[in-house]
Amino acid sequence: MTGTALKPQEQTCQGVSRVDEPCDHSAQQYCERCGQWFCRAHYPDPEWHTCAPEQGHV
Ligand SMILES: [Zn+2]
Ligand SMILES: [Zn+2]
Repeated sequence: MTGTALKPQEQTCQGVSRVDEPCDHSAQQYCERCGQWFCRAHYPDPEWHTCAPEQGHV
């Protein structure tokens, strides 16, 4: 049996920029609002993450 195993460690950034540019970086941050994973650079970036939290709040 192959192909159905879950790999929780291999999560990649699901952010998509306004120009439809994908991101291949490994994701570090999970957003409970949209249920998607983002890399550290894109999690707070509203251009990639539509419900990004306000910046300046670490
Ligand atoms: Zn989100
Ligand atoms: Zn990313």
